[in-house]
Amino acid sequence: MALDITDLTPPPGFERLVLAQDPEAGLRALICLHSTRLGPAAGGCRMWAYDDDRAAIHDVTRLARGMTYKNAMADLGLGGGKAVIIGDARRDKTPRMMQAFGAAVDALGGTYWTAEDVGISPADMAHAATRTGFAVGLSGASGDPSPWTAEGVFRCLRVGAAHAFGTEDLSERRVLVQGLGHVGLSLAEKLAAAGARLIVTDINEAALQDARDRLGAQVCAPEAVFDQPMDIFAPCALGGVLTQRTAAMLGARLVCGAANNQLADEDVAAALAARGVTYLPDYVVNAGGIISVASEIHGQSDAWRLDRLGAIADRVARMLHQARQTDALPAQVADRMVEEMLAAPRAA
Ligand code: NAD
Repeated sequence: MALDITDLTPPPGFERLVLAQDPEAGLRALICLHSTRLGPAAGGCRMWAYDDDRAAIHDVTRLARGMTYKNAMADLGLGGGKAVIIGDARRDKTPRMMQAFGAAVDALGGTYWTAEDVGISPADMAHAATRTGFAVGLSGASGDPSPWTAEGVFRCLRVGAAHAFGTEDLSERRVLVQGLGHVGLSLAEKLAAAGARLIVTDINEAALQDARDRLGAQVCAPEAVFDQPMDIFAPCALGGVLTQRTAAMLGARLVCGAANNQLADEDVAAALAARGVTYLPDYVVNAGGIISVASEIHGQSDAWRLDRLGAIADRVARMLHQARQTDALPAQVADRMVEEMLAAPRAA
């Protein structure tokens, strides 16, 4: 195959940005290594029909940087990276394209580990894995990361409830879960079992019907989320749902969910805090999935995975304590913790 790897100029603060192309295989992908300071970069591969290369570069760099923060905070010995394949996953994806993508990952010599993300399935990753040993999240290995993500979010939500309401008891707490996908549904099941008054929303009618029938959930229309009375908001669908406008409308006192990049911009955290809303940073609470993937990268046991998962909620408790003591936002405390890790001298 005629694979071509071209180094592009990465944005300031980023280590590497490459364009990987194999026209015969239909591959046009960007791989970004934000930081390998704490270990090889790890982060999923997304396939998306971007309008142009600029949009793809914007997405891959933003996501790669996010992975540095998530992996550092979860103490995984991994840096942050991400890949995007440019194209429509339903129309353009082929086994040959995925093999070419695997070859591109392999050409980076283990500085980047890939896994599935939006538009990419474990079966697609299996094709990539025929050409590289640096593809994880394969069937029969660490498995679906989503239940791990949901469990981590659930535990953090309890810690957040103790902070916001003085008790981690969720019975009768009104919790709105936005998005009943792989993570959201699992989280909703845990909340229902804990006695929460569940409110759910999704654009998928069947998922709503199931949550209504099986979990006794109240259903809310996707566009009515921010008019809804609730105690806790758990965004588990899309990024960017909390803007200045929606933050001003939000009835909850706690935000804790799985979605990546929940805040439209950093200032939204302050707007939420000004209204007495505790926002638990997404990259801290949703690390369960990457922890599961990391266990595969490092060849670690289930005990290691469970131990790291348990550490997420402890970290959130410490972060909230520190935020209270220093009059800072939890998001600021979290970012500072990561920036200190990245600035620390390398171990010999
Ligand atoms: P998913 O695709 O399985 O589920 C997303 C759900 O959101 C779907 O049911 C979809 O119908 C629904 N949805 C889409 N638009 C909506 C809207 N406007 N209003 C309400 N619902 C809407 O994804 P997932 O794997 O469950 O991941 C959910 C979020 O968590 C994503 O942002 C993902 O990036 C993030 N995340 C996932 C994991 C993981 O382990 N899967 C790990 C970390 C972060």
